[in-house]
Amino acid sequence: MRKALDIENLVKLYPNGTQALKGVSFSVEEGGFFALLGPNGAGKSTTIGIITTLIPKTSGKVLIYGKDIETNIDIVKSYIGVVPQEFNFNQFETVQNIVYAQAGYYGIARRQARNNVEKYLQQLGLWEKRKVSARSLSGGMKRRLMIARALVHEPKLLILDEPTAGVDIEIRRSMWDFLQELNKAGKTIILTTHYLEEAERLCRDIAIINKGEVIRHTSMRALLKESNIGTFIFDLENEIKVLPKIDGYLIRQLDPLTLEVISHNNNLTNLFAYFARHNIEIKSMYNQSNKLEELFVKLTKRDEA
Ligand code: ADP
Repeated sequence: MRKALDIENLVKLYPNGTQALKGVSFSVEEGGFFALLGPNGAGKSTTIGIITTLIPKTSGKVLIYGKDIETNIDIVKSYIGVVPQEFNFNQFETVQNIVYAQAGYYGIARRQARNNVEKYLQQLGLWEKRKVSARSLSGGMKRRLMIARALVHEPKLLILDEPTAGVDIEIRRSMWDFLQELNKAGKTIILTTHYLEEAERLCRDIAIINKGEVIRHTSMRALLKESNIGTFIFDLENEIKVLPKIDGYLIRQLDPLTLEVISHNNNLTNLFAYFARHNIEIKSMYNQSNKLEELFVKLTKRDEA
């Protein structure tokens, strides 16, 4: 499979001496939906800044569809659409002018530009608002405007930095739907996010970055499997008096019965077999927290203990 993005040993030393990236390597497949995850200060924005040629790298290599960003800057720019975290359009411009100007910036011919502006404003539910100034849009609409603007030159790769930060649930969900459709239609998407649920819901592959280093680079499925070290809480029909001993599980407490899965390749069969053998009836059971979140906290806190 061809790579949309290939980063090798990327290092960034800021002039004040901060080493933001200490040799970051990861890649994103063409057509992929990729999450770059990490706590604050991990180096996500620096990475995105370098990929989008806004921040110069200290050393390392970045290839976009096989083209080195250093030697093919114009081609690379045309391949990428970026949705930054902050609204960075002129709030007094009209919605359609903001998107249209971007098409001009990329040298899209006028008629094509007009078609694309309409297409993306329609798709993002902003067509009716095309003549109003951006200032009067709601926060969710402004974000969608940023996406329409990033798409207008039809880039192969869309990069979104915290796309749903501060957006309410309903808009977040409709944005998820839109991004999923876009990816299905062939667009490669990379996003950074603090919402682990967002990464879990949308992304097929993931890199977790911490203190300038990639600590995991894997598929979401493999990561979730690895995070099968959840904590389960049971509501039982009858009280049990003795701490059970079940292979692969650590019993944390009796009331309510709280178990932690300690083996990666464990499944729940053992557990239910044990309950059946001892006539323990379960009324309900739930997972204490989001699996990915648990793993994320474990991974990124590991060296701070
Ligand atoms: P994230 O996006 O994951 O929060 P950043 O890439 O913004 O992380 O920051 C990574 C590290 O680099 C942090 O320690 C941050 O303080 C530092 N940093 C970011 N931008 C600059 C800059 N312009 N000058 C100096 N240090 C910076």
